Amino acid sequence: MANLKEYKMYINGSWVDAENKKTFKSLNPENNEPWAMVPEASAKDVDKAVESAQKAFHGEWSKLFPKKRADYLRAIADQLRKNSEMLGKIETIDTGKLFRETKTQANYIAEYYDYFAGLADKVEGTVLPIDKPDMQVITTREPIGVIAAIIPWNSQMFLTAVKLAPALAMGNTVVIKSSELAPATMFEFAKLIEKTGIPKGVVNVISGYGDPCGKALTTHDQVERISFTGGPETARHIIRNSAENLSQVSLELGGKSPVAVFEDSDQENALNGIIAGIFGASGQSCIAGSRLYLQKNIYDNFLDKLVVRANKIKLGSPMNPDTQMGPLNNLKQLEVIEKNIKLTLEQGGKLRCGGKRHALSNKGYYFPATIIECDNHNLPVAENELFGPVLSVMKFDTEEEVINKMNDNQYGLSSGIYTKDLGRGIRVSKAIRAGITFVNTYRLISPSAPFGGMKDSGYGKEAGLESIKDYTRVKTTWFNTSKKPMTDPFTMG
Ligand code: NAD
Repeated sequence: MANLKEYKMYINGSWVDAENKKTFKSLNPENNEPWAMVPEASAKDVDKAVESAQKAFHGEWSKLFPKKRADYLRAIADQLRKNSEMLGKIETIDTGKLFRETKTQANYIAEYYDYFAGLADKVEGTVLPIDKPDMQVITTREPIGVIAAIIPWNSQMFLTAVKLAPALAMGNTVVIKSSELAPATMFEFAKLIEKTGIPKGVVNVISGYGDPCGKALTTHDQVERISFTGGPETARHIIRNSAENLSQVSLELGGKSPVAVFEDSDQENALNGIIAGIFGASGQSCIAGSRLYLQKNIYDNFLDKLVVRANKIKLGSPMNPDTQMGPLNNLKQLEVIEKNIKLTLEQGGKLRCGGKRHALSNKGYYFPATIIECDNHNLPVAENELFGPVLSVMKFDTEEEVINKMNDNQYGLSSGIYTKDLGRGIRVSKAIRAGITFVNTYRLISPSAPFGGMKDSGYGKEAGLESIKDYTRVKTTWFNTSKKPMTDPFTMG
């Protein structure tokens, strides 16, 4: 115990334990050993965090000039740039994601705070062309109030930024609930936020389990909006919870994203894009391109090349700069992956590489790049989100056929197309029911590019110009400009 790093929650500008002193341990996925101890928030702690956010909202924050709030966002961006190595290291220890990705991402995420800082004073109201005499009617964009940001364990800096930055820019205050699977990074981030001198209570960071912590937060009567990223099952709880407080909800959920490679594609580019899409972050990405459709004339040859490439992927410690795939984050994921592979092979799936826990360590959750040929995409690995490095490969003949196949899944988050035919790239991308389509590339994000899904992948878009408005409510104000008094009080019109 003595060696465990201890964290406290950040509530109302103070560092606090859970009221009942409960804690839980965070594991390092590299060796499955506890390395940090964090508070386990109860409903009482949630209450304190929400109260403090509510007080800060009604205090100075929502009344500050937008430019002033933007200064705080830029200060957060500066802190991220200065501390990206430290943040990356903590995130890597806590999640198992590669250090080379986590540190680069922490640095890049600063761009999101700058982007929304720039937008803070550009959200305007309107004057309405009203159909009444002697009336001037305007709309303004008002902040919503207390926002609950619920985030998963993966890409947490990014998934926090796309909620926190627009929320703060528009004058809201925020309670962030980190994932119980990797809570440490958010506390390190909170320390950086504190350094900016942002008024106390504007940002609060708590840790705990879905129940009671997440449940108490998403049912809390002073929470006005829930920005959720996570799995679809949790999302169903969130929606039920929001029936208690009637808060606005946005959902960024899972995916089973299809990728089509046409025979005219640049194969080297397609190979790299596919590897990035499914084996980057060991496949633990919501936009992982996990369903691959290869056109029949290139099927055998392209698949052989892909298998050769996948077999060369270097598994290892996530801190090692040469490592290409680190461990999976947790045992539950590993078990889901193994179960789906087993069922698929029993039903005729053909294993081309990987498929079994890696011998690299008998402690961490290492799983190699795995490719399975599937006769049809209703086999378990081809249908379900696995959140791991498992690629299902299917054959197609015509453009129409592959469009139908790509759309034949409950999710609709991301998708990919590899072709040199620009017309086809546009036709297929328009036909795909997914929130994002990558043509001849994959796995890219930007502050100006809206991110989010369709179908069971959720609703609401994060990042991009429009998303800032999701953190406002429209208010309509009527000004009577007439010199005469009102006449008949019993009619409306
Ligand atoms: P998860 O759904 O298990 O947990 C997400 C968060 O919800 C955690 O903080 C958890 O504590 C909280 N939670 C759980 N039960 C709750 C409840 N009853 N009330 C309130 N909060 C509750 O997800 P995970 O395993 O951490 O992450 C993996 C999932 O997230 C995958 O499905 C992945 O596709 C998805 N994801 C989506 C995106 C996206 O932007 N679309 C990005 C990353 C991850």
